[in-house]
Amino acid sequence: MLSNIRIVLVQTFHPGNIGATARAMKTMGLTELILVNPRAFPDEEATRLAAGATDVLENARCVGSLEEAVIDCVQVVGASARLRSLPLPHFDEPDEMAQQVIENAAHAPVALVFGRERSGLTNDEIRCCTHHVSIPANPEYGILNLSQAVQILAYEVHRAWRKQDGSDFTYQRPLEATPPSREQFIYFQEHLARLMQQSGFLTQPHARTEEQLQALFARAQPSRKELSLLRGLLSAFETHQPKS
Ligand code: SAH
Repeated sequence: MLSNIRIVLVQTFHPGNIGATARAMKTMGLTELILVNPRAFPDEEATRLAAGATDVLENARCVGSLEEAVIDCVQVVGASARLRSLPLPHFDEPDEMAQQVIENAAHAPVALVFGRERSGLTNDEIRCCTHHVSIPANPEYGILNLSQAVQILAYEVHRAWRKQDGSDFTYQRPLEATPPSREQFIYFQEHLARLMQQSGFLTQPHARTEEQLQALFARAQPSRKELSLLRGLLSAFETHQPKS
């Protein structure tokens, strides 16, 4: 269960933050750390700040893009202090996020994603996420240190896990109610984009239409079954298009 929850750090600048993150994770029972293009890793400072959690660091995986880190995940929660223009489903309270993450992690991998110390996550990276979460804080100074943000969200996840442990949560969710993985979502988006081009619906190459539709489908949170229904629909449209 907790092993299905991964922490993803994007382009971390200070290796000390990677070490402190490993420690924050281990104290809350999390072990899966993925680093997207860290500036310096492995690094002595990371090892020093990891203290008793060097095993988490040793098992950390480095990858070249956020998409690669989360491709098999059914839920990808981007942590951000700021509200973004892209209207993805947003958790204002970390405990609500943690409860949903725990439910999903019973069946498939999920990710919590953290941005760069200076500039957070780019809009492209936000697009890899299915949800956002903010840690409510002082409105005049609400940006936490990276590893402290990890600590707070990891604590909430651990708390939600403890609460459900031993309770009646052990029901088996039917497969059709499982959320799609990022990969399945991407296939759907590509299929939709292709059809929008072919049908002449998209006329301007840089219009935000695709982005807006992506956000709409992210908010709708379709199940695997619903997504395959939509893909079936697209295929039917595709085959019945008049050839011009
Ligand atoms: N200047 C950056 C802040 C980066 S802090 C920005 O404006 O986005 C590094 C990372 O810590 C952030 O990308 C985010 O993942 C996390 N973080 C810091 N404070 C947070 C908060 N209040 N809520 C959620 N995540 C936070």
